[in-house]
Amino acid sequence: MEITSQQIEALLRMLERPEQQIVIVSHTNPDGDAVGSSLAWRDVLVRMGHRVTCVVPNRFPYFLDWMTGIDDVVVFKTDEQGVAARAIAEADLIFCLDFNAISRLEILSETIAANTTARRILIDHHLSPAEPFDLMFSYPDSSSTSFVVYALIERLFGTQIITPAMAEALFVGMMTDTGNFSFSFLTPALYRSLAVLAETGIDIPQIHNNVYNGYTEGRARLFGYAIDRKMKLLENGTVAYMSLLESEMRRFQFQQGDSEGFVNYALTIKKVKMSAMFLAHRKFIRISLRSRGDVDVNLFARKYFNGGGHRNAAGGKSYLSMDETIALYTRAVREFAEEGGLG
Ligand code: 5GP
Ligand code: MN
Repeated sequence: MEITSQQIEALLRMLERPEQQIVIVSHTNPDGDAVGSSLAWRDVLVRMGHRVTCVVPNRFPYFLDWMTGIDDVVVFKTDEQGVAARAIAEADLIFCLDFNAISRLEILSETIAANTTARRILIDHHLSPAEPFDLMFSYPDSSSTSFVVYALIERLFGTQIITPAMAEALFVGMMTDTGNFSFSFLTPALYRSLAVLAETGIDIPQIHNNVYNGYTEGRARLFGYAIDRKMKLLENGTVAYMSLLESEMRRFQFQQGDSEGFVNYALTIKKVKMSAMFLAHRKFIRISLRSRGDVDVNLFARKYFNGGGHRNAAGGKSYLSMDETIALYTRAVREFAEEGGLG
């Protein structure tokens, strides 16, 4: 991650005028990194004297409910008072955190697109940012957006401004996007940043416990059901997939966030190199893809499911039925294997 002085100067110029109206937006189905990076960045901007509103398209998972300041995050989908729409319409600056294309905002896309005067700044770690932004901090070699925010704080003010609440938010983002520090881009610089966050006195076991051991009984039982009954293997046991219909989710009192981690679980099987999860929504099926090593699910998601993401974690959507989606996946995996995609 190489942040140039030109970028820093450009950002400081945009933030120079005090008391600006600023909106921070993050992606649909906001995860720990989306929320963590947004909360920490909000604190930075508030500290600079700006008025800041954090907006997400739909609700964050309930296992993040405990985070400091999360109650002030406006959920666009259930925002009956129109707080988000007003803040966006009046915004001088819009910070786009943890996504790479306005379309990833889904139900919020049009509202953001409607404000044509605010300058847009991207802070992100996904491959191939799509829109023209006025300023971009796009680092696909960063393990999380929270780590990009950390690096920005370091360059702008120095890490001594990091409060325990900011440290907690950044830690949540770093921890969740790296699969508890087990995926790619685990650089020495990341561990140095973790040391700085730890020095603020945050309770790391407690954060871990809040995020990973805060589920419901229904979720634990759904997990068992999904692995035992719904996980299927293809290509000689090297490719896995799992699907959940709405009726199955209802049976286990499904809540947003309950399927977090399911798609990764198939990769605990030694032979499995690629895993997919098909989650039924009212109007479409949401697809999550994960892979090991050189198997590139970002490419796979782009080619077959109109999606994208990172090399080892990507997603997309299908407007077909569940059976048709699984049939498409099965054919796509075959083609992908023939083209050498599975190594
Ligand atoms: P998840 O499976 O956790 O929802 O998403 C994994 C990764 O894929 C994330 O980095 C996410 O941003 C990306 N992703 C998920 N769904 C989509 C999609 O529909 N389009 C694109 N471009 N990326 C997606
Ligand atoms: Mn992220």
